[in-house]
Amino acid sequence: MAASKLFSLFSAAPETRNSYNQPDHSEALSLLNHFEESCKGWFWSTDEAGHVKYISDSVAPFLNSAPGKLAGLEFAGLFVPADPNASARERLSFLLCRHSNFEKLVLKAANAQNGRWWEVSGSPQFDGSGQFCGYRGYGVDVTEQLASSEQASQLALYDPLTGLPNRLSMTNSLQSGLAGIDLAGRSCAVILIDLDRFKQVNDSLGHPAGDALLIQVSERLLKIIGDREKVFRLGGDEFQIILPNCDDRDMLAGIADEIIETLTQPYSIDGVRCIIGASIGMVIGPADGRTSDEMMRNGDLALYAAKANGRGCYQFFSGELLEAVETRRVLEEDLRDALAKGQLSLFYQPLVSTKSSCVTGVEALIRWHHPTRGAISPALFIPIAEEADLIGKLGEWILRKACDDAAGWPAEIRVAVNVSPLQFANEGLPQIVLSALANSGLSPGRLELEITEGVFLNESSETDAMFSRLKDLGVRLALDDFGTGYSSLSYLKTAPFDKIKIDQSFVREATHPASRNRAIIAAIVALAGALDMETTAEGVETLDQLDLIKNLGVSHIQGYVYSKAIPSDDLALGLENGEWRIEPSGPAKQRSKRRAMYRKVGAIMGGYYHAALIRNLSETGALIEGLKDVPLGAQMIVDFGEGQLSVGTVRRTGKRQLGIEFSDPLIDDGVGGLRTGNRVAPYTLAKMGLSPSDHLGETRPWSAPGEGSLETVTQTLGLKLHGEPTQTASKFQNLTLMGTGLNLGGRQHRQVTLDEWERLKAAVEASHNPSLKFIIGLVVMTGARLQELLIARWDDINVGTQVWMVPKSNAGEQRRIHLPADAVKLINQLPKWEGCPYLIVNPATKKPYRTFFGSWDAARTKAGLATVSINDIRSSGIKSW
Ligand code: C2E
Ligand code: MG
Ligand code: MG
Repeated sequence: MAASKLFSLFSAAPETRNSYNQPDHSEALSLLNHFEESCKGWFWSTDEAGHVKYISDSVAPFLNSAPGKLAGLEFAGLFVPADPNASARERLSFLLCRHSNFEKLVLKAANAQNGRWWEVSGSPQFDGSGQFCGYRGYGVDVTEQLASSEQASQLALYDPLTGLPNRLSMTNSLQSGLAGIDLAGRSCAVILIDLDRFKQVNDSLGHPAGDALLIQVSERLLKIIGDREKVFRLGGDEFQIILPNCDDRDMLAGIADEIIETLTQPYSIDGVRCIIGASIGMVIGPADGRTSDEMMRNGDLALYAAKANGRGCYQFFSGELLEAVETRRVLEEDLRDALAKGQLSLFYQPLVSTKSSCVTGVEALIRWHHPTRGAISPALFIPIAEEADLIGKLGEWILRKACDDAAGWPAEIRVAVNVSPLQFANEGLPQIVLSALANSGLSPGRLELEITEGVFLNESSETDAMFSRLKDLGVRLALDDFGTGYSSLSYLKTAPFDKIKIDQSFVREATHPASRNRAIIAAIVALAGALDMETTAEGVETLDQLDLIKNLGVSHIQGYVYSKAIPSDDLALGLENGEWRIEPSGPAKQRSKRRAMYRKVGAIMGGYYHAALIRNLSETGALIEGLKDVPLGAQMIVDFGEGQLSVGTVRRTGKRQLGIEFSDPLIDDGVGGLRTGNRVAPYTLAKMGLSPSDHLGETRPWSAPGEGSLETVTQTLGLKLHGEPTQTASKFQNLTLMGTGLNLGGRQHRQVTLDEWERLKAAVEASHNPSLKFIIGLVVMTGARLQELLIARWDDINVGTQVWMVPKSNAGEQRRIHLPADAVKLINQLPKWEGCPYLIVNPATKKPYRTFFGSWDAARTKAGLATVSINDIRSSGIKSW
């Protein structure tokens, strides 16, 4: 189109004037021409119907056209908004129709792939009678500007070191993951990972090495999770994983295990080998938090608990952790009071010689009887005293009191006093010990200081100096809780211990036939013998443990089998005759550990939701109070709160209490408590007319919506009934439902089409996890269930007879699966690792994959089928790989 025409169109534009200050049209024309040719901007106009009257030739190629060919076309049809989420009001056609003035509308070509963006402005034109007669406007190329601002936002959202999305992205993802999940009945899990000992690598090898390590960590995490957008680096050595639609605690535990195992494998950095660890905290929304702030706070608490629990482990969030924070705060205040008001006392637990069966010494153990809370365990308040800087004062009081008491006992009886690592780090400790001995008149050889491996954490010349200063006083030193710390054995070479106390965790398991603890205890005894040290086994409770410990040659025993800690007066009574021989007494064998408690629960049975009370709890059963006239064999659903429900069968009836057995054993929560394997989503609870904390209320009539039977209720809640076949086990249900967006027991499977199957298959084949192919392949060819595949043993496949015996979760039972020829062919390709009993093996670590969730999730997402479950493939009749 001629520039002269353009000039006439824009005659309203400011005029240029010649040197005589007359308007100079030719100069203006050449300037406009020049501007158009520079390709920086262009002009346009339309008629009243919105058809192009004029458009600069320079823009035609970018609109997939040739100069002059655009006239007459609909102007709005040439462009689309650069932002695909632009609202109708931001669209060109809308504005043109309304004859609105618009400025800097960011548009790109509708039918060209050139990636150019323009800011387009336009104003409606009206003739002398006020009649609309079209638009005039211009466009400016802003491609470069937008690209660089996109780059900036990329930088703002991604960690430049690892390339992982950063904390800001994480907050965005978490917020969108949590948005509306309550109503939709979905869930969202967050795994927080903190590296252990990363600081040491940074300090000893330098920051570039630390950076290289972080990159390797991020690569290992990506390998496990398989999806770049789900793994975040929050900063420093903190990483996070967000798994939408995931609430299966068993599966999360599997992922956490795999992460810990993978991250603790050695790293090579510039040829230097280094090893770090990882601690993990996990939260599952919405039960554990409805906002990202809540989720992060609770995740941090869980992570903190995992670290406090010895690091290198994982911890799920629970309401108890939150309560613990509050309890701790209150206890700290009360402890200060208790010290001032003399509410603390010292008890003594006898240590018995295995040779003479006589008491040779005692351990002083602090006791606190709280005016309202009753007895509080030192395992709980000593760490509080340490953190609140009270341990120095408390420790000194204990030391003086123990020496004073012991001075009144027969001369052969020693007293052992626990010394916290913080006391040990105090330079003044030898002086305090000396003063306690001098004031009481106790001979130094009768005082034994019990020190835990914690003191070696900061091994330094001061540690060695403290040992020799204490030793110079003539006191004895015992290494307490041996085997639970983090240090190496090397300190035994130099630290002058007189005794090793074998931690009770070794004793507890030692009588189990499969336990290796016997061998460990025997090795400790041999080691102590070689170093001329005595041994004490802690926590001996049963007669069979006592027999075993004696046979292993341990020199002293401390445990309930002889006596609990007793007040000083009772001890003086026992020692009255100079020699105190105690007859061992206790259960013959260890039972599944029962925890005495007073815990309110709900019990659903007989058309009622009963408020009941658990008096003791073990992994397999509970003693429950508050239910009357319940026959043997009756089944009930026990509601522990927070979506933790389990089916119990009455096995014992008493006057007030019932003994029930759980159909699905509870699992250790890692901090001394028990919890159910899965939790029921709040949405499902609400659907069943239950709430996360019902049991705190009164007994009330309750029936399932639609008058469902116990079977349908348990099925909806994802619980297992007694004697029920494995396939309805809750773990399995959750596996198949995970990622479906639904967490209802009765989800109908949908048929996967052949086309979808081909896409899935291609994505599975392309997965970085080669085992995924075998897992999915075997599912479709044998109809094997997912849970079976995960627990199946490689040895149980017989390719000769084409039979695969798969274990059921009911102990000892097996299911027979026929292997078609194609399946045998596939199995023959499976990597076989010696000594690995599992079917599915991680080729990198040569260890069994405990989960392939991340890879499967990545594959189905890649195939555009994020909500398809493995059961959808199983029920689709596809039978070949
Ligand atoms: P510890 O020094 O290892 O003390 C032994 C713990 O094992 C005591 O727990 C004792 O009651 C318990 N125990 C002994 N025999 C058995 C048994 O047969 N079965 C079971 N289940 N437990 C048994 P306690 O008194 O609750 O103390 C726990 C920990 O608190 C102690 O472990 C120690 O680390 C700390 N502690 C206790 N008193 C003091 C103290 O006076 N000062 C300091 N610094 N720490 C203390
Ligand atoms: Mg001790
Ligand atoms: Mg101990």
